[in-house]
Amino acid sequence: TRYVYRFGGGVDDGGKGDKNLLGGKGANLDGMAAIGLPVPPGFTITTQMCTRYYQDGGVYPESVKAEVAAGLAHIEQVTGKQFGNTADPLLVSVRSGARISMPGMMDTVLNLGLNDETVEGLAATSGDERFAWDSYRRFIQMYSDVVLELDHGAFEEALDIAKEDRGYELDTEMTAADWKLLVAEYKAIVAKLWTRPFPQDVHDQLWGAIGAVFGSWQSDRAKVYRRLNAIPGEWGTAVNVQAMVFGNMGETSATGVAFTRDPATGENAYYGEYLINAQGEDVVAGIRTPQYLTRAARERAGAKPLSMEEAMPQTYAELAGVFEILEKHYRDMQDIEFTVQQGKLWMLQTRSGKRTAKAALKIAVDMAREGLISEEEAVARVDPAALDQLLHPTLDPKAPRDVLTKGLPASPGAASGAIVLDADTAEKLAEQGKAVILVRVETSPEDIHGMHAARGILTARGGMTSHAAVVARGMGRPCVSGAGSLSIDGTARTVRMEGRVLKEGDIVTIDGSTGEIMANEVATVQPELAGDFGTLMEWADKVRRLRIRANAETPQDCRTARDFGAEGVGLCRTEHMFFDAARITAVREMILAEDEAGRRAALARLLPEQRDDFAEIFMVMAGLPVTIRLLDPPLHEFLPHADADFEDVARAAGVAVDTLKRRAAELHEFNPMLGHRGCRLGVTYPEIYEMQARAIFEAALIVKERTGEAPIPEVMIPLVATARELELMKAIVDRVAAEVFAERGASVDYLVGTMIELPRAALKAGEIAEIGEFFSFGTNDLTQTTIGISRDDAGRFLTQYVDKGIFERDPFVSIDVDGVGELIELAAERGRKTRPGIKLGICGEHGGDPASIAFCEKIGLDYVSASPYRVPIARLAAAQAAL
Ligand code: ADP
Ligand code: MG
Ligand code: MG
Repeated sequence: TRYVYRFGGGVDDGGKGDKNLLGGKGANLDGMAAIGLPVPPGFTITTQMCTRYYQDGGVYPESVKAEVAAGLAHIEQVTGKQFGNTADPLLVSVRSGARISMPGMMDTVLNLGLNDETVEGLAATSGDERFAWDSYRRFIQMYSDVVLELDHGAFEEALDIAKEDRGYELDTEMTAADWKLLVAEYKAIVAKLWTRPFPQDVHDQLWGAIGAVFGSWQSDRAKVYRRLNAIPGEWGTAVNVQAMVFGNMGETSATGVAFTRDPATGENAYYGEYLINAQGEDVVAGIRTPQYLTRAARERAGAKPLSMEEAMPQTYAELAGVFEILEKHYRDMQDIEFTVQQGKLWMLQTRSGKRTAKAALKIAVDMAREGLISEEEAVARVDPAALDQLLHPTLDPKAPRDVLTKGLPASPGAASGAIVLDADTAEKLAEQGKAVILVRVETSPEDIHGMHAARGILTARGGMTSHAAVVARGMGRPCVSGAGSLSIDGTARTVRMEGRVLKEGDIVTIDGSTGEIMANEVATVQPELAGDFGTLMEWADKVRRLRIRANAETPQDCRTARDFGAEGVGLCRTEHMFFDAARITAVREMILAEDEAGRRAALARLLPEQRDDFAEIFMVMAGLPVTIRLLDPPLHEFLPHADADFEDVARAAGVAVDTLKRRAAELHEFNPMLGHRGCRLGVTYPEIYEMQARAIFEAALIVKERTGEAPIPEVMIPLVATARELELMKAIVDRVAAEVFAERGASVDYLVGTMIELPRAALKAGEIAEIGEFFSFGTNDLTQTTIGISRDDAGRFLTQYVDKGIFERDPFVSIDVDGVGELIELAAERGRKTRPGIKLGICGEHGGDPASIAFCEKIGLDYVSASPYRVPIARLAAAQAAL
């Protein structure tokens, strides 16, 4: 096996530049040299060598010595200098470079090859004694720090004392003689700390540095980073050895870093910094303030020191030419490192640059317009999950902020408003046009109306999948959950954070993307949905096959969803309408009724309300399918839980507190998730589903008459386990439909289908499809019932399950393709066998998860349904899945 690949000076061993073999840095150094850019010659020791080195217990195969020698000979031949030669020494840098750039790896060692004799040669050939001794002291310090791992404090202290003794402020005041004396001190420090003299043999220096690079692959920091980012240990790192070029040879020399486009905004303008008479990391080290690359940037910042464009116009023009070549070659925005040695430009690194979501979007769209990449590639380049950042108002980065404390970033976006401690007050104030932030210990289904009315939600307890987090994400409300230092005093109506006390009504700002909670209002900036975003979405729509619907139950959410491009409603949860303050009383009367007649009387009062709800939704979704799920949660969710609430509720419902308590006790369930819910409610109280069906069909006819366009209701029966259940429920819906159509002398097309959310339903999908006209996979419940893990209780152990590799990802976030996925696939297959072309979709949190969407594409579902704010993410993810 060959372990060393040379580059530069017309030699190109790397060919296509395989990143897996040469590492990212090595592959691109080779790539730049191959297209004729000025790259100092060098060679790369492959990642395979690293892997082998560890397999063999930290020794090199004999052949590598000769290969490295040949690599050095190549550099010597191109530069005309010799490694270790005392008259005209070759100096090299030793640089690590894994497949992807990785913190925790060894830092680069510069100026390697200097010793007590070669330093004299460098002084002679450069004609600059000060430069030579400065380079030597830099080398000793770097090598001692990075390779010998000695404490760098001692070196810094020695330099400080040297300057102080001479009354200097800056390093630049040190003379050649000063550096020479410091080098002697540095060597003494090494001898003391390392108990051996600083290595004078240049080959010992080189192999020491190579060993340190390979050694750093197994450093604790690198291991932690690999674990967190799922990078396999077998990848290994490459080592790059390259001829030094010097940015510290006076006023015509410089070093810098640049992006070919602005990585923050995506603007097509060069962006970067440079420093005259500097070396290596000086630019980012913060010792001196770097200068702007371009004149425009300098002027915009009102800075004085000349930009590179102004100070070295010729070299700058050459650099700009290189930017163009690199973008064309790599077909992406590049992040570049360069050095200028006495007016001559040298390229030291290039890679695809990291960028914000905003920049990613703009760059992808611009590059497609420029013809650099295709529309499909533009679609493939934007991370759907990152779009989330762009769809919500965000805090103005320039606005000052007074951070009170931090919680979990549970639902993205920023919001400001008055602190309100209960849902009813939140709703009342919102109706008066006030912006409020609902602050609760944790939220429950009773808080829904308040959450909806609030601009944002803040809770003291609960994780990223808590009720507050899930509901807030669904509604597109910013939410910070689990703010541990937040305590609420319900009597004094105050909240306390990190020792500061705020009253109800005080203004706070929450940032659901970072978890920060701030005092007062912090200015926000609105998302831009037209422009580049709209263009990318159009391109995505051209390639996707899956349809995208929304989970939405209010006209407002439906409108948001439609604006975001939803092609219908995939899940309208009717129970959310029941929690509305105006109706909860009628709902409770229905629950408290002693008999069917009492229930029917209460339901009759709910009918017009539900009819209006549906009519509004049908209006917004005119011409598109709307899937309405009949009542699903157990009835006790609508009754009060706290003792304090019983009296109020009893008074409002006109019953005795005892009666209410007795009924609540009767309805109590040990395991509500598997209790009296879903179609089991319809089986025992058919009049509830009758009322809902009537509301749906009456609303549909009203909208048809008003608009001339008939809505397409899809009535969905939840939690079906057997075909017989669905048969009974469908009979109710069909009967009511026939009644309503007869009464009104008009009709609409509709479908009756079911959620597949129990394993039995998935298994018996063939039989169920004889009755059901569509399936919607309720993946939240299907995950709970298949794995037997309750979502509400999983927080305590799920992270460990992911850490220990039991699950690759949280199965409530991304479909467990192996298990739950197999059930879905099987149900789809069996359903299609009975009813060819049966409409299939998924609803639930997974509908907005890119990996789950890819799975839905793979098994050929018709649509996915996601919360309104995730609709664009789903559109993009569906397009990427189809590419
Ligand atoms: P990192 O991966 O941390 O960016 P690099 O290997 O790119 O580390 O090295 C950091 C810096 O050191 C480079 O940006 C460049 O300024 C300098 N450097 C590395 N090799 C050379 C060289 N052969 N000549 C001059 N400077 C170099
Ligand atoms: Mg670098
Ligand atoms: Mg369900």
